[in-house]
Amino acid sequence: MIIKERKKPVKIPMLEALIRRLPSSHPQIQSIEKELAKRKAGFRGEQALDYYLEYLPSEDYYLFHDVRLHDRIHYFQIDTLLVTPYFLLIVGVKNIAGKISFNQNLPQMVRLLDGREDGFQDPFTQGEWHQNSLSRWLYINDFPFVPIDYLVVISNPTTIIETSEYIPKKLTHNSNLLFKIEELAKFFTERHLTENQVKRLCTALNEQHTPHKPDVMKQFGITEDELLSGVFCEKCKTLTMERTHGRWVCRNCGSISRTAHIQAFEDYKLLMNDTISNRELREFLKLSSSKIARDLLKSMLNESNGNTKGRRYHIPY
Ligand SMILES: [Zn+2]
Repeated sequence: MIIKERKKPVKIPMLEALIRRLPSSHPQIQSIEKELAKRKAGFRGEQALDYYLEYLPSEDYYLFHDVRLHDRIHYFQIDTLLVTPYFLLIVGVKNIAGKISFNQNLPQMVRLLDGREDGFQDPFTQGEWHQNSLSRWLYINDFPFVPIDYLVVISNPTTIIETSEYIPKKLTHNSNLLFKIEELAKFFTERHLTENQVKRLCTALNEQHTPHKPDVMKQFGITEDELLSGVFCEKCKTLTMERTHGRWVCRNCGSISRTAHIQAFEDYKLLMNDTISNRELREFLKLSSSKIARDLLKSMLNESNGNTKGRRYHIPY
């Protein structure tokens, strides 16, 4: 039974907004596009895994996707957590193209692709860290001992695992995950959590989950004044929309829209702030008057805090 659904990571629309709002000649564009491709591949990998997890028997198995918890020292985020009364299972998902190899003596994963070798963080060390953090978290929250295991799942069916040297036991391909879980279920036969304790655990996981709000501007060292202002035309994708008579008209292709400002609001929220003032709106949307800004803000309905002058408006989208 899925208790916490997997959602598209907010970082994906953030990076898309950042690319949209930077000139194509910006020196950071390539790095941002690379990061976006990586995030999208990661999300696709997690979705591919979910396909197999749907075949788990629903009674006794509780699934949590993207849980982020605090162990009183740091936050830790688990791609997928399986809760049963007998054991907990942490599943880390890797969507990596090419050929990967592991070394028994060195905590590192090496990927060979197009004749190039790249090193990655060792997913097993990460699994052990998560194991430690989760057991700390259980202890802090007054849960009894329950064994925690972890698996690293390769979600890309075309990934080749180098087998000549060493294959870690906790590594598996997507399609084999259910068999691995069955093996674990045969191994952990002692019941550690009562029905009530499982319920309390599910509630605590949901309640203490704290979503991460990334700051992509900071990550790529981009300042507000580097962002392109204006409203995009939905048709020709240029920043040439002008507000006249309560609607948007494109100076470039002549198309008309009543909703073109919504994406601009979204971009502002993704990159800058959840709230906006009249002056900030005028600057970001390149509006000619504060009356137009006021009308747009009014159309969003939900106010506000501060007095008329310093008033900020919550962006609902
Ligand atoms: Zn246009």
